[in-house]
Amino acid sequence: MATASTSHIDHDAIIIGAGFAGIYAVHKLRDELGLDVLAFDAAGGVGGTWYWNRYPGARVDIESVHYSYSFDEQLQQEWHWTEKFCGQAEILAYLNHVADRFDVRRSVRFNTRVTGVTWDDAETVWTVTTDRGESYRSRYVISGAGTLSVPKQPDFPGVDDFAGEVYLTGNWPHEDLAFAGKRVGVIGVGSSGIQAISELAKTAGHLTVFQRTPNYATPIGNAPTDPGEQARNKANYRAIRDASRRHFLGLPYTEVQPSALAVSPEERRKVFEDRWERGGFRLFIDSFADILFDKAANDTVADYIRERIRERVTDPATAALLAPKGYPYGTKRPPLETDYYEAYNRDTVDLVDVKANRIDRVTPRGVRLADGTEHELDCLVLATGFDACTGPLLAMNITGRNGRALAEHWADGPQTYLGLMAAGFPNLFMITGPQSPSVLYNMPLAIEDHIDFLAEAIIYLRENDLDVIEPTVGAEREWVAHTNELAQATLLPDSPTSWYMGNNIPGKPRRVLVYLGGAPAYRAKCDEVVAGNYDGFDLTASRTLAAAA
Ligand SMILES: Cc1cc2nc3c(=O)[nH]c(=O)nc-3n(C[C@H](O)[C@H](O)[C@H](O)COP(=O)(O)OP(=O)(O)OC[C@H]3O[C@@H](n4cnc5c(N)ncnc54)[C@H](O)[C@@H]3O)c2cc1C
Repeated sequence: MATASTSHIDHDAIIIGAGFAGIYAVHKLRDELGLDVLAFDAAGGVGGTWYWNRYPGARVDIESVHYSYSFDEQLQQEWHWTEKFCGQAEILAYLNHVADRFDVRRSVRFNTRVTGVTWDDAETVWTVTTDRGESYRSRYVISGAGTLSVPKQPDFPGVDDFAGEVYLTGNWPHEDLAFAGKRVGVIGVGSSGIQAISELAKTAGHLTVFQRTPNYATPIGNAPTDPGEQARNKANYRAIRDASRRHFLGLPYTEVQPSALAVSPEERRKVFEDRWERGGFRLFIDSFADILFDKAANDTVADYIRERIRERVTDPATAALLAPKGYPYGTKRPPLETDYYEAYNRDTVDLVDVKANRIDRVTPRGVRLADGTEHELDCLVLATGFDACTGPLLAMNITGRNGRALAEHWADGPQTYLGLMAAGFPNLFMITGPQSPSVLYNMPLAIEDHIDFLAEAIIYLRENDLDVIEPTVGAEREWVAHTNELAQATLLPDSPTSWYMGNNIPGKPRRVLVYLGGAPAYRAKCDEVVAGNYDGFDLTASRTLAAAA
């Protein structure tokens, strides 16, 4: 039950999603703040990304020791990861363990999609409606709906006509699928496509990969957990987390050098080779600090990656097709791989260039290209990406003050303050929302930071007999300008098809969707806002609270 002074509401807070964000939000607000919370997830269980993305090869690309919750010391001591970079099943098992440990499920309605979120100005409450036809009123709404949870619809026709099986990496079936002996087609070579291709190549009778834009994939460097390293990590977990939070992208890496252009070609190569061999995001974020900012510096690493691809692929024409060109490394999310390039050395794997010869349509028998060539298939795997960052929020039909829809407010790209709230949408918190570091931060830490911030804000409101928080129009405008300015200083706007910029979705405004100042600068700004008694926010009391006072 909601608290006495707010008896016209059903719950203090409604939370959308039960992934990393929703699980922690339930625990924090219910168990630490004592709020009455209810969460919804369209999924049949907890896990979010790791519930839906069950495709072969699905794996984290940040070391599991870092890609995990830090909020509970006992939890991080008791859980053991079996690999350096764990697979989907193990991450899902971890999230189920966390949900059990903190008794989260009793506050979640599964198999329930939120279809409407509407602000009532007079009552100062949100009404949340679901696809079960129910509606609930709450003071606060917390979106943990994710950044990569709305798969992009394929932009070619005919998928429904295909007579074989169609699978979406972002909504993969729960049962084991057998691909042995089958003719499998994969459309898309982003992170998910690359992971799936590497695995499917091992079992499919024949695999056809339809590639539009090749990616700069680099080795993940996975291995079973080393017990000695695990013991050291556990003994130093607090320091590791602190170091992660001080790092631009939320990892405790410390070997980045200032500039790829300030060292000799031999020294540069030594650094690239070392980071390539050690794997993970080290090449991207722990080699030279200017590769995302200076085109000439970026060219050095891009050339290096192309060279390594050519070494690994036997057929020179295939190697040339796989080598990315025309956009800088790191301006699309860099995929990490194991034996991806070697997959193309198998007789059973073909690469098809659908930039030169685009996909015309899917037919009942397979995929037909613009020149009329038809590739016959038994199964089609769509690894076509996501409507990132704004997609999950806009899909909920959110309407704020004066009946203004979030879709209208964001018609020209997202408008937020701190990537957490929007003007005209009081008491609506967007965990890892657009224009926050989100996907350019280690996500579990980004999620914890946002939930801790909003929980502190709610405590502050409570202590000051207030219950409504909303960014000012001015603060929002400044934040949007600041995030756009930061992006202009990087090479990101140079990428023709990056979901970081929203330009993988036809018609989506081409705006940077992430904060590019780095996690430490972002955290410092949030701290400054709190120290200034929520500088940039209007804090008020609802009529109910004012009447009760
Ligand atoms: C394949 C893949 C690999 C990734 N690897 C990494 C990685 O290595 N490192 C990293 O930092 N991040 C990675 N990410 C990003 C990943 O999404 C985050 O790390 C993290 O899992 C996000 O957690 P979340 O709870 O915010 O959102 P999600 O895990 O996306 O969960 C959101 C939940 O909200 C639910 N939901 C959404 N809308 C509604 C609605 N309207 N009604 C009801 N329920 C709704 C969804 O069903 C979903 O279960 C990866 C993402 C993908 C897709």
